[in-house]
Amino acid sequence: MNFTHPFLDPDGDKLREECGIFGVIGTSDAAAMTALGLHALQHRGQEAVGIVSLDGQEFYSHRGIGHVAQVFSSNQIFDGLPGSVASGHVRYSTTGGSGLRNIQPLFADLAAGGFSIAHNGNISNAMHLKKELVSKGSIFQSTSDTEVIIHLIATSRFPKLLDRFVDALRMVEGAYSLICMTPKRMVACRDPLGIRPLVMGRIGDAVIFASETVALDVVGAEFVREVEPGEIVEVRTDGRITSHRPFGDPAPRPCIFEHVYFSRPDSLMGGRSVYDVRKKIGVELAKEAPAEADLVIPVPDSGVPAAIGYAQQSGIPFELGIIRSHYVGRTFIQPSDGARHADVKRKHNANRAIIEGKRIVLIDDSIVRGTTSMKIVQMMRDAGAAEVHMRIASPPTGHSCFYGVDTPERSKLLAAQMDVPDMAEFIKADSLAFVSIDGLYRAVGESGRNAACPTHCDACFSGEYPTSLTDHAERDGDSGQLSLPVGKVA
Ligand code: AMP
Repeated sequence: MNFTHPFLDPDGDKLREECGIFGVIGTSDAAAMTALGLHALQHRGQEAVGIVSLDGQEFYSHRGIGHVAQVFSSNQIFDGLPGSVASGHVRYSTTGGSGLRNIQPLFADLAAGGFSIAHNGNISNAMHLKKELVSKGSIFQSTSDTEVIIHLIATSRFPKLLDRFVDALRMVEGAYSLICMTPKRMVACRDPLGIRPLVMGRIGDAVIFASETVALDVVGAEFVREVEPGEIVEVRTDGRITSHRPFGDPAPRPCIFEHVYFSRPDSLMGGRSVYDVRKKIGVELAKEAPAEADLVIPVPDSGVPAAIGYAQQSGIPFELGIIRSHYVGRTFIQPSDGARHADVKRKHNANRAIIEGKRIVLIDDSIVRGTTSMKIVQMMRDAGAAEVHMRIASPPTGHSCFYGVDTPERSKLLAAQMDVPDMAEFIKADSLAFVSIDGLYRAVGESGRNAACPTHCDACFSGEYPTSLTDHAERDGDSGQLSLPVGKVA
């Protein structure tokens, strides 16, 4: 992760990173397997990629800006990454301030030996800790919040590395799934609330850790289990596995947005198929916000499973009324609004033959700034749609994420500025509705949101952040709270 996030950056429109991590211990082709695993996690980060391998005592690394296939484009690169242990990281975009020094895994020579760390998540008191560390003499090499963990380990008074690691993590707040390497072991860990995902798999004698199960599928490994919230799993080079639980047993709060958008639909998350949850969100949406229409059309790819669920529940035929070009990256990461607008057009095109003269229900997973919805509604009208009813498979995104999902600053979130009727007018839809937060929880298998004790982090929808937000509070004292209308039809 990077310090240049919206609440700390004077420009305010810097996007934060999202990330995917993968690690394997106990196979001769560790680096190549890591590249394959990262390729399956590419949707979690497209800006930069790095792999660190370990051959006995020596660490080797290769990193670069770009996609996995671009940065790891030849076999010779893997000749330079020997060893039976490797870990890697893909990172999402920041619009500035990134660069090679921030590409993970980060590596340091500590008193106890070499140490590498790959991090998915965001530390919400990183600036605070960094100031303290710098005042005591720490010299930072990057602008990454992850480096704070390295300095906390380096300055811990405990003699053993694992104790230093735990000591460091006790000072950190926010979200972290980590894969670390030392000369004799791989250490994987999830923050006490398990905000970001991390799973464990096996292939032969090798043990694998990855952000999502899809990475296990792609390398041919079997899924063993999730790393539990607050758990530290230590795998030694001789194959011994030890689990530690130094943070007690707080109630987990995994990110619900992983189900809505972020994870691949072919992954399992919290024991559930992401695809299936998305379809169920569509079913809930159809029950809560029916529409008189001729066709259900998904905004590809993110709206497809929910649109299937909506169509099945409503009995309205599902059609591919928008065709997506697969040669354009995610629209979200473009630096300026102008570039983002142009990109929506390059990415999606109306299937006029299907749409002309039809009343359509358009399904997407979320509205963030509203740029995509506005363009797509217009595209449907230009293609001759008689009516456009927009349905969104998540509640209004009214709050920024401080835990590693890329959202703009709050003032740029459409739902933080407007109620649902005004949003409908803004995107020029004939009607607009969002699934309710209870509907979303029903789709993940619950009877609704337990307000006293929510089972997930849903701060982007509810404004209820499950940890302190020290950096944010120190910067402008805003708690981030705002009550919003949820799930109304405009
Ligand atoms: P916007 O155009 O700003 O309203 O963005 C909404 C679109 O971006 C939706 O179609 C989502 O599929 C996608 N999206 C939502 N959240 C994110 C995110 N955190 N990172 C990348 N894309 C996102």
